[in-house]
Amino acid sequence: MLSYQHAYHAGNFADVHKHLVLHAVVDHLLRKSSPITFVDTHSGRGVYPLDAVETQRLGEFHHGALPLWEERHRLADEPLLSAWLEAIAGLQRGGSRLERYPGSPWWLAHRLRNGDRLRLYELHPGEHGHLSQQLLPANAQRIHGDGLAGLIQALPASTPRLCVLIDPSFERKEEYAEVAECVLAAMRKARHGVVLVWYPLLPAGRHHVLLERLREGGLRKIWRSELTLHAPGEERGMYGSGMLVVNPPWGLEERLAAAMARAAPLLDKGCRYSADWWVGE
Ligand code: SAM
Repeated sequence: MLSYQHAYHAGNFADVHKHLVLHAVVDHLLRKSSPITFVDTHSGRGVYPLDAVETQRLGEFHHGALPLWEERHRLADEPLLSAWLEAIAGLQRGGSRLERYPGSPWWLAHRLRNGDRLRLYELHPGEHGHLSQQLLPANAQRIHGDGLAGLIQALPASTPRLCVLIDPSFERKEEYAEVAECVLAAMRKARHGVVLVWYPLLPAGRHHVLLERLREGGLRKIWRSELTLHAPGEERGMYGSGMLVVNPPWGLEERLAAAMARAAPLLDKGCRYSADWWVGE
C-alpha cells in the first residue's frame, strides 16, 4: 500500500520539528571536513510548492512553517531558527511570500560538499517522478526503490562518516518494527553513524514498538525529542511528532531546546516540546 503523499502535509508542525532537528545535525556534521554519506530512506518529492492543490487542501503549513516565516525578523536573534529560516529564504524566488517549502532531500542536498554523497530513496513512482525533476547536485543519487533495504545494501559507506534520515509514512503497523530492525542492522555495519528517525504520535501508541525495540538493541546513545499538540486521545488523529537521533552530535539537545522554546508557541495549538535521553547519557 502506497497511498501517502507528503504534499498534503508539507510544512506542517511535524515537518518543522523534523527539519529543524535535521538542519541542526547536518550543520554540526559539516563543521569537520571529512566526507559524509547522507541517506534519505523515504525522500518524498524534495520541494513542495505551497500553492499546489494537495497542499492547499489541508493547508497545514498555516500552523507550521508559515507562522515562523512571518515572524522571521523577530526570530533573527535565535541562532538555529534564523539559520533554518535563512535556508528556506534561499529556496524562494524572491519577494516576501513563502511559496515553496523544502523537503528532506533539499535539506540534505543544498549544503552538500564535493566529497560528500547523498542517496535519496523513494518507492512511490509518482513521488519519485517529482523528485527526479528537482535540480540537485551531481553527487546526489535518486533511487526508485525501498529505502530500508537500500540503506543496508549501501553499507558500509565509502566515506568516513554517515548520516541517515528514516522518515516513513507508517501506513502499515509493521513498519515500526521494520524500522527498528533496519536501524539496528545499519548500526552493526556503521557503528558511529548518526541516524535520525521520525515517528508519529498516534492514540494507538504504536511508536512504542519502535522505541522499545531500539532500547533493547544495545545501542549506546539515543536522544528523543517530541512536539505534542494535545494529550493522547483528546482528539482523533496524530497528536504529536517524534524524532530519535542515534549518536547525536554534541550540543544538539541545547540548540533544539533554545529554538523550540521560541518556535513551539507559534505552531499548531501552541505545541509543547520535550526531549530526553531514551538510551544513554
Ligand atoms: N522525508 C520527506 C520529507 O521530510 O520531506 C517526507 C517523506 S514522506 C513522510 C514518506 C515517503 O516515503 C512517501 O513519499 C512514500 O511514498 C515513501 N515510501 C513509503 N515506503 C517507502 C519505502 N519502503 N522506501 C522508500 N520510500 C518509501
